[in-house]
Amino acid sequence: MMNFIPPKELTLRGYQADAIEALRSGIRSGVTRQILCAGTGAGKTVCAAHLLREADRKGSYALFLVDRVALVNQTSQTLDDYGIRHGIVQGINERWAPFENVQVCSVQTLARRSLPRDPDLIIYDECHCQYKHTLEYMARYPRAIKIGLTATPFASGMGKHWDGMVNVRSSRLLITDGHLIEPTIYVAKSPDDAELGINKLGEFSDRSASDAGIKIVGDVVAEWIKKTHEHFGGPAKTIVFSPTVAHGRELCDAFAAAGYNFQQVSYEDKSDEERASKIDEFKKPDSLIHGLVSCGVLTKGFDVPDTLIGISCKPYRKSLSSHMQEIGRVMRSHPGKSKALWLDHSGNIERFALDMFDVWENGAGDLSHAEKRDTIARKREAQTREQVVCRECGGVMRGPLCMACGWERPVRSGIVAVDGEMRAFDLGRMAIEARPGLRAECLKRPRSVWDAAVNYCIEHSRGQDCAHHGDPTTHSMNIRPAIPRPSDHPFQPHPTRLI
Ligand SMILES: [Zn+2]
Repeated sequence: MMNFIPPKELTLRGYQADAIEALRSGIRSGVTRQILCAGTGAGKTVCAAHLLREADRKGSYALFLVDRVALVNQTSQTLDDYGIRHGIVQGINERWAPFENVQVCSVQTLARRSLPRDPDLIIYDECHCQYKHTLEYMARYPRAIKIGLTATPFASGMGKHWDGMVNVRSSRLLITDGHLIEPTIYVAKSPDDAELGINKLGEFSDRSASDAGIKIVGDVVAEWIKKTHEHFGGPAKTIVFSPTVAHGRELCDAFAAAGYNFQQVSYEDKSDEERASKIDEFKKPDSLIHGLVSCGVLTKGFDVPDTLIGISCKPYRKSLSSHMQEIGRVMRSHPGKSKALWLDHSGNIERFALDMFDVWENGAGDLSHAEKRDTIARKREAQTREQVVCRECGGVMRGPLCMACGWERPVRSGIVAVDGEMRAFDLGRMAIEARPGLRAECLKRPRSVWDAAVNYCIEHSRGQDCAHHGDPTTHSMNIRPAIPRPSDHPFQPHPTRLI
């Protein structure tokens, strides 16, 4: 006899309930094709499960469309966990039960199979992929309510297939709430754009990215060793995004030569079992695999929340979606995880950081704006580099502050350029952890930053020069000594101070 496991309770967080209500209000006003834009950690799956359960309760016929078998199984498992009865439309599957109200469907199978009822609700997972068959299938049922799920609604043409978009919650708020971890990002050595060829879609060609990338595998390994020891005191669970199988192999060999176990998963794996067994091993808390190198297989549906480091070796020219899907893999929260690193060896950060930060802060924006984000070819320019990369440590700047070491760009007249527009910063609010001219070594120790700042205030109130840490006459920060002394934890600028 099977053991009965009571279903997991399906409770929505407040903002998830608000998002569902916003969808309902859209439907009431006649908008039948809406996108639910939910970034990593916003709870896309739980929202979808809620919609399916409600449909089931009302006796509606609801289809959940996914494009890969692995995602069919994953979704079915989630619905089982919540006790939501459903059938599966995928190949020859023992759970074929077309009279259940809820159906989890592989789009490939659905294109060739008839169902007993017309759908009342169609939920399209990862709708930015815009598969032709799926879009055609949806168009066949004009009266059905359609909801597209995605974290990155940036694909050109989405405006043609969808009429509205609901943003679940910005990544910034999820980070503030502790549902998501903002990675510390370092911009490391990467191939020059001139070395990269362009394919017919206007993206960098994998072949050229691979050839150029292979020349710097030694730098990738050295950077990882340095950073993983600096931040985690030893090897930490890592995923690598690689342009080709050949590049991934070179990289695994270079890691092996340095004494670390990196394994590749790719579309060239001999069997699904072989790939699954590597991923299963990697998922273990004490995995023997230090790093998993992905060639085109880990961006969708791969969820190992205790991954602490991501390495980007596959350059993108236009696809903000791909970049954000990749970095999202290290941002999941997990018990005991307080930090994540992103090591950029592709140049993607210089190309996409400002767009990415905009989406993190403000959400994807309206659909007409969002759907252009994957179509613009980005260039790496000295001006962007200046704006994004810390001169002291290679970390990534948010506004005038380095998120990795706390260095602050010297400010002239209290005005700095952010996102291409001039914006005045309230320097009093900018916190006292960092000030211009401080060296990175000093900033790693919060107490010395504090002491330097206090010193600076005291010296300045007497009208004297500060005795150390650079020339104080070149800056004009309004430091308020009333801010509490920072703890002795490693220096971590609080992200909310920037907004
Ligand atoms: Zn820095």
